[in-house]
Parts: sequence; C-alpha cells; structure tokens
Amino acid sequence: MTLEADLLLTNAILLTMDKDFTQYEPGALAIKGDLILAVGAETEINKSYHAEEIVDCGGKVLMPGLVNAHTHVPMTLLRGLADDLRLDVWLLGYMMPVEREFVSPDFVRLGTQIACVELIRSGVTCFADMYYFEESVAQATAEAGMRAVCSQTVMKFPAPDAPFFEESLGSARDYIQRWKDHPLIVPSVAPHAPYTCTAEILRATAELAVEFDIPLHTHIAETALEVENSRQEHGMPVVPYAKKQNLFNAKVLAAHCVHVDEGEIFTLRHHNAGVAHNPSSNRKLASGFAPVPKMLEVGLNVGIGTDGPASNNDLDMFEEIRLAAFIAKANSNDPTALPAHDALSMATRLGANALHIGHLTGSLEPGKRADLILVDVKQLHNSPHFRRDPKSVYAQIVYAAKSTDVSDVMVNGKWLMRSHQLTTLQETDLYQHAQEYARHIDTFLIQREQSVLSKLIAIGGASEAESFEVQAKVRLSDPQPVLEAISHPELEILHHRHYHEYDTYFAFADPSQGYLRYREDEFIDDKENVDKVRYRLTLLGPAREQHYPSDVLLSRSRFIAPATHSLRFYREYFKPSEEKFIEKDRLRWRVLFRGTEFYINLDRVDNPDLGYFLEVKTRTWSQRDAEHKAELAEELIVFLGLSTEKTTDKDYIEIVISA
Ligand SMILES: [Zn+2]
Repeated sequence: MTLEADLLLTNAILLTMDKDFTQYEPGALAIKGDLILAVGAETEINKSYHAEEIVDCGGKVLMPGLVNAHTHVPMTLLRGLADDLRLDVWLLGYMMPVEREFVSPDFVRLGTQIACVELIRSGVTCFADMYYFEESVAQATAEAGMRAVCSQTVMKFPAPDAPFFEESLGSARDYIQRWKDHPLIVPSVAPHAPYTCTAEILRATAELAVEFDIPLHTHIAETALEVENSRQEHGMPVVPYAKKQNLFNAKVLAAHCVHVDEGEIFTLRHHNAGVAHNPSSNRKLASGFAPVPKMLEVGLNVGIGTDGPASNNDLDMFEEIRLAAFIAKANSNDPTALPAHDALSMATRLGANALHIGHLTGSLEPGKRADLILVDVKQLHNSPHFRRDPKSVYAQIVYAAKSTDVSDVMVNGKWLMRSHQLTTLQETDLYQHAQEYARHIDTFLIQREQSVLSKLIAIGGASEAESFEVQAKVRLSDPQPVLEAISHPELEILHHRHYHEYDTYFAFADPSQGYLRYREDEFIDDKENVDKVRYRLTLLGPAREQHYPSDVLLSRSRFIAPATHSLRFYREYFKPSEEKFIEKDRLRWRVLFRGTEFYINLDRVDNPDLGYFLEVKTRTWSQRDAEHKAELAEELIVFLGLSTEKTTDKDYIEIVISA
C-alpha cells in the first residue's frame, strides 16, 4: 500500500539544502497540492508513494528555488538610467526625482512583470521587495505565481505614493490587512533606512510590524558615510540607533549591513534579524565589504540579494552567489572562506530564514511548500562531473553553472517554467512597454538637465521666488573710516553679526545659467569662537539687469536654500565647467537708512588676498522699487564717506555682479 501524491519528481541529483546538506542521487520528491510530502532516494520514494503524474528529471539537479533576499523589482524600468555615480548622487539626484515623476501603479506593475520573467528564468522562486505602490508589486507577483515578501516603503521624504509619511503608514496598514493571509505574498513594511526616516517613522513602522507579526524590511549601514553621519547626529552607529527606536522588536530584514562592527553583529543576532548581503550592488556603488564570514560564524541568517536592477544592473542570483563567495575569499585573503555549499545555503535556506519565512521555503523538506528548480548540469561549460567529493556538486552550481542552465521552476506546487517555457507571463509585450517608459523618462531628464534651476528644484533644493537685489560694492583701502561712519546716529543699527565665509562658485558652460554658490558660514561670537555653522546654496542670476553709473547693480532671480548635501555631492550632480573659491571675513550690519532697510557688509577677502570691500545691499520685489533703492544705495555709499567713482578689482567683480 503506497501513499498518494499529486506529482513525483524522479531521477534527479537532489540537493535538499537542509541543515545537514542532505543529498540523494538518484533522488526523488513527492508533492501534494502546494506541499512537499517527501524527499529521499528514488527507490525509497517509489516504494512509498504513487502519483498520476511522474516527471523524470533526466539527471538534472533538483534543488530549492533561489531566494533573492533584497531587491526593488519595479526598478527594472530604471535599469541603465544613471550609472557610475556615487550613491547619494545616484539616489537623490536621479532615482528619487525620476521616481517622483513616473512611479505609478502601472509603472510598478510593468516593472514587476519584467522582473518576474528575469527572476523565474534564473531560478528564483522567492524574493524580498521594497518599493512604492507595493500592493501593485504584490498583485503582479502573485499573478506571475512567485513567492515574495512585499514591503511598502515609508520614509520622511515625499514619496511617489504618499506626500507625507503618515499617509504611507496608513496605506501600509490597509495593504497588510488585505494580504496577510495570502498563500504566496507576505506583506511587510519598509522604513527605507534610518537616515531617510525620522525616529518617529522607525518606531511607528516597528509597532505596525509587531502588531501584524510581519517582517520589517530596511537598509542598514550601507555606506561608511551613513555610519559617520549617524555617529555625528545620534552619537552612535546605525544598529544601536535603530535599536533605540525599537526597530528590532520587529522581525527585521536588514539589507547591506556593510559597515557594522562586532557588537552590532551580535545585536542583530540577539534580535534574530535577517541580513541581505548584496555583493554586486556593494561593488558597483563601491560601498565596501560586508563582514559576511563573521556574520555566519555567529549564526546570523544572511541571505543574498541582487538589490534593485538599477544598481546591479540585473537580477541574476547565480552571479550574486558566485560573487559572494569570491568576495569573501578575496577580502579575507583566505580561499577557504565561504565555500560553495555555504554560499548556496545563503541563497536558499538562510535567505528564507532572513526573510522570516524559513518555515515555508528555502529547502526541500517535507511540510515546506514545493518551491523548486531543475538545473541542467550536463552542459559542456559545466563538465565533467566528479563524484569523489559530495561537496563538488555545490561547486558546480556556484562556480560553473549559469542562470540559463535553469530549465524548470515550480512555486507552491505550480510550474512557472517548463523546459525554458514560461507558463504565467507573456514576454513579447513587456519589452515594448518598457521602451515607452524609457522614452518619456529620457525626455524628462533632457529637459531637466537643460537648466541649473530645474536640476536644483529636482533635488528639492529650491523653491522659486523671484526678487530683485540692489547691490553697491566699493573697494576700500582702510576700513576704519567706514566703521566710524556706521556708528553715526543717523544710521539705525538693527542687527550685527560676524561671519567667516567660505564660498565655492560653480560656473557653467552656458553663462545664462548664472552661478551656483555653495556657502559655508561660520558664525563668530564675541570671543572670536565659531558658535554655529550654516551651509547654504544660492543660485545667482546670470547677468546684471541694469548697470548704474557707479558699481550699483541690479540682479534678479535669486534662489536660496539650506545646503543639505556635501559640496562634493553638488559638484558631481551639477558638473560645473569651472569653480572659484573665495574665503572672507565679514562684518554685517542690518541698518535703517532714510526709512529703508539695508545690509552693510564689510568684507576682508583673505583668499584670494584682495583686501577690503564694502557692500551695501537691499532686496525688493518690483523693478520700479529696485531703481529707487539703487539711488538710495548710492547715497548710503556716499554717507559712509566713500566715493562711488572708485573702481573695483575686475576679477573679483566678475563674481559679485550677480551676487
Ligand atoms: Zn536596496
């Protein structure tokens, strides 16, 4: 009397990828519904089970489907959009502005379908995703028949699917409620990263994940800069900071963990957090080397992920596994580090554990879902097959097999690919639709790149506010008479400050773009100490509107915003044709002169060494008023005991014309 199964898979090199790396050759596997009933030697399975359908695997490797532990699948549509850039320029300068403009449920659906084709074809049966409109990702994934942890992004910046985080948190809750019992999809919440979230968001998302007992997906310690900033802002590295916000109360899946120390690794282990190692992405963005062997040694569940296809640029897990093994060896100078079987277990069992769905998938064991693949290892590029060492089959898969050797893929007991033919997705239309998106995005970026202002607005660096600035500038041989004149009772001093200013001016090939100034202001207190530092970015109008007889100038279109990124970021993002640097000591007074407010700046230009300058400035909203104030500015110059006939240094005035 034999037990009934729906399907028997026979004649396979069966790699269970269980804890003991049990394998059978020839091996067989019995499936009933969506479950694995039994795995074992073919003779044993044949003795105990019968089924209406028997598939002869023809000596191929039968193993668990691969688990892509971290990705952003809809970004297939942004593949190749911007490459060879630093992470901040790439993310904040290109990805996020394009996403704000284009990402919609339709975009996400198409991107997911394209990704599913690539994933199924390369033997992936399960992935952990993080994106916007995640419900549409979940929908498209479920239709393709794949298993996934689909995580709805929440962050402090306006997102394509939510202008405020409260909104994305609310929609995440609704989405989780709707999908939490789905057979293929595990809904999840994704506070994007500690540096893109507020403490409040980290706490709220952790609470949500605990409430529904679902995984929480995030990016942790991807770059050294992130850790440095965390130390500066919070006085601690990223993991303890996240812990302080109760993040690890939830079942965390932490992508990257490149820059974590030993203490942080133990914290992650203590809280049973899963880690997604992304070797290609970390290489491409030069983020560093995650301490993977150390993490495995302490028993962390470390999976392997491709990261988004815009930072990789593919979803090929075979490449990732191989790279993970090679990097561990190269980085430790030890060729025995991360052997093939361990690398493969990261892409299967440990990956599923990292996603907190190890009870469902990740190995071929009775009671788990039938998520499996067949890999043809009888290709010339993967021959011959040595049998002396049972571990050699893992080396075959990791070091020599290619994703195109995957011939058959099953998820949840259903075939998604049979003999290289997809059963749930049509590939023909997808390419055309992706091309249409590429055309629109190209047009958008070409327009944006035409103007410094639109590039500035794209990164949230400015809001448009046109005003006229009136400015008079005179070179001084001796500042003393001006200092005395300022104390004259006819001039009412409203405010006084002392700064040290470091200005970098970006000039552009097209002079009509004006100048972009990155200014670091050191506020100097009475005791000559720096008591505050301010960074500002100002777009200066291109040309003088009108030139008065002396050096009284009018300029317009001035945009000012706090500089939230580094000078290096702006340099790489705006790509100026030329840069000028000026360092000066500035005494500034806000005064009332004949009923009009002026700023008087007394500057000592130290670099380049140009001596003293006096600047009188005011601002107005209309051209007419600007002309009136320009005359007053000349009067103020004369009042301060100076002739407006004095000429100024040409090199220097080039810059201040628009300042
Ligand atoms: Zn990522």
